[in-house]
Amino acid sequence: MRIDIDTDVCIGAGQCAMTAPTVFTQDDDGLSELLPGQEDGGGSPLVREAARACPVGAIAVVADPAT
Ligand code: SF4
Repeated sequence: MRIDIDTDVCIGAGQCAMTAPTVFTQDDDGLSELLPGQEDGGGSPLVREAARACPVGAIAVVADPAT
């Protein structure tokens, strides 16, 4: 899978980092970003939960067509 964060939409609510702290963090502006090496979610089952938790739907979990 691949995780896309739309930082134009993100309002820095921090729900993603709270829900899946091993995958998401927040940059200096409070916007969501992925932790290094977590572009594929690191197999965390909390990624989809984090995407659902985002109040503005800024996180897209895209299935990898190669798997
Ligand atoms: S939950 Fe959504 S709005 Fe909040 S920081 Fe994460 S991506 Fe941004």
